[in-house]
Amino acid sequence: MEKYDYGIIGGGPAGYSAGMFLAKQGKSVILFEKDLLGGTCLNKGCIPTKSLLHSSQVFANSKKLEEFGIKINAEEFNFSKIIEKKDKTVEKIRKSLELAVKNSGVKIVYNEACIKDNTTILAEDNEYKVDKIILATGSRPRQIKGLEFDKEFIFNSDDLLNLKSLPKSVLIVGSGAIGIEWARIFSNFEVEVTIVELAEHLIPLADIDISKRVERIFKQKKIKFYTKTSIQSIENKAVTLSNGEIISPDFVLVAAGRETNTQNAECECILGDACNEIQLAHYAISQAKSLALGIPFDKNLVPSIIYGEPEIAWVGIQEKDCDENCKSTLMPITALGKSWCDDSTDGFIKIITKKDKICGASIISKEASSLIHIFLIAIKENLSINEIKSICFAHPTYAEGIFEILNLV
Ligand SMILES: Cc1cc2nc3c(=O)[nH]c(=O)nc-3n(C[C@H](O)[C@H](O)[C@H](O)COP(=O)(O)OP(=O)(O)OC[C@H]3O[C@@H](n4cnc5c(N)ncnc54)[C@H](O)[C@@H]3O)c2cc1C
Repeated sequence: MEKYDYGIIGGGPAGYSAGMFLAKQGKSVILFEKDLLGGTCLNKGCIPTKSLLHSSQVFANSKKLEEFGIKINAEEFNFSKIIEKKDKTVEKIRKSLELAVKNSGVKIVYNEACIKDNTTILAEDNEYKVDKIILATGSRPRQIKGLEFDKEFIFNSDDLLNLKSLPKSVLIVGSGAIGIEWARIFSNFEVEVTIVELAEHLIPLADIDISKRVERIFKQKKIKFYTKTSIQSIENKAVTLSNGEIISPDFVLVAAGRETNTQNAECECILGDACNEIQLAHYAISQAKSLALGIPFDKNLVPSIIYGEPEIAWVGIQEKDCDENCKSTLMPITALGKSWCDDSTDGFIKIITKKDKICGASIISKEASSLIHIFLIAIKENLSINEIKSICFAHPTYAEGIFEILNLV
């Protein structure tokens, strides 16, 4: 019987990262994947959605080219080519990943696996002896009672990745990262979008000013939304909302969170989405790093990002967490010359400070996904405002917004 130091079930970011990091430490590792290496992140999540989002944004931006003195005729797009481009991107990354995992010395078994006991994994009638088992089986879209996925009218985010054509209208249930990104993709492709959100504002986990700004932008873009609203019933593709409104979309996307794929067996080490903490790829990778390399990370400093234009990002505390010692400062992105050059002036940087330290940042702006990491490092390293101000930020950039906002504190 084959024997390994570690047996990992699940080949998503949690599983393959843990595998590669452990192999680097000289451990023998066997990894079981029942579908495609890369998991949800590479095959159904982070990467394919960002590829579609980019294509949709290129199309939407092509409508504004005349403002920049460029004239081309980009009235149409070929949706099957867009899907093809997304598939090629995913495939290319997957091939590199497969090679990297193989080169690291991790043995991959493409089969469904389950835990037989503390030291035995079972896959297709074969038993594998391991010293330790890591469960990294990920998550799946959460179903809501009355809104069961049927691949005809009620879809989840997996179903959308292989649409053959675009709908004319779509109803999105939930305004977390997945709901908002899909709303942006559809809207860029001129699909009529309506969002239904149970909470008081869109993106309930974001700072209130971010939620309000997104609502304003969505109104401008004619993306309809109903907050404090739920779905009451669906009959013959007519959706009745709790506010009495009746909508007849081509289909409904339910983006209301994800549930874990855990097995009933006991397992000491669960990583990634399966452990039901923060369901993000970088959280899964940081957990793997911490386990395999002993590099700790602060769970309170995990950045949240929502992609599209403008990007949205936050880390640390928000307005709602503030006490009387906190100060909140907001700077419109229009203060930055670069935003005018890029025609991306809608947005702001907001920070929460306590005495001379930053404790939270929320950004809605082009490049917010990169910018947030500067705040993240400042918070993690407990840098004082003056220490950050002493950095020479390049001009013209969005990063110089960090210096500018610190001048306002
Ligand atoms: C539409 C969408 C967009 C997203 N965008 C982002 C983003 O931009 N940024 C971000 O950080 N996160 C994003 N996420 C979340 C991210 O994809 C997950 O947090 C991440 O994939 C979790 O990694 P994981 O390894 O824990 O699980 P997964 O990636 O789900 O991997 C688990 C793997 O385990 C395999 N598996 C399950 N059971 C078994 C078994 N019994 N035997 C063998 N194999 C098994 C599965 O096939 C799967 O490949 C997105 C998710 C979705 C759905």
